[in-house]
Amino acid sequence: MAEKVHSEPSERLSWPRKIRERDAKVKPRKVFLTFDDGPNPTWTPKILDILRQFHVPGTFFVLGAYAAEHPELIRRMISDGHEVANHTMTHLDLSQCNRDVLRREILDTNVIITKASPGLAVRFLRAPYGIWTPEVCVEGMNAGLTPLHWSVDPQDWARPGVDLIVDTVLATVEPGAIVLLHDGSPPNELASRPYTASREQTVRALPRLISALKERNFVISSLPKLRGQINPVRTA
Ligand SMILES: [Zn+2]
Repeated sequence: MAEKVHSEPSERLSWPRKIRERDAKVKPRKVFLTFDDGPNPTWTPKILDILRQFHVPGTFFVLGAYAAEHPELIRRMISDGHEVANHTMTHLDLSQCNRDVLRREILDTNVIITKASPGLAVRFLRAPYGIWTPEVCVEGMNAGLTPLHWSVDPQDWARPGVDLIVDTVLATVEPGAIVLLHDGSPPNELASRPYTASREQTVRALPRLISALKERNFVISSLPKLRGQINPVRTA
């Protein structure tokens, strides 16, 4: 099971990659930080404090189940200038879900995010484990969400060491890169692999990472508005 978690997906779907490549051409020196599997009452505030300290934006792909427990963290993300995006309710492998469950995993998360922050337009969906199927993309787009993958994965969730997290990002980052980090842990992983729950290494790596990216003239940015994107949140 462990090798499947947060690994690169198969080549069976190319939409998210195409979106990433197009953004890279338009925004030549920008890099995007994304944080998955929160909000977490222990780690998310620490991540937010660091982003505030360095005046850089991030995108938080939240789990609806956690967002329902901590709407105050959703509101802080928004008030601090970050983006909140959809990482489904409970972090299931969506390729194994029937259509109804898939739809609920996506739509219920939108409802919870917008309940925490009324009027917010949720723009992006990231499939748990990066497992994309045509059905996941279609249901996401039916909910007004653009599928968004990542291009740089330091596997911080596995706690490989602060140095390795920083070094892996710096070795693979390029203009337009979307960096995958984690401010929380999915509920099923907390039960089966509690040793991976701590995000302490991510918290320690982040200031070094931001400083190193700035030294290399990368501009840590908010995700761009995509041409033709549909913003309204549909909850029906
Ligand atoms: Zn995840």
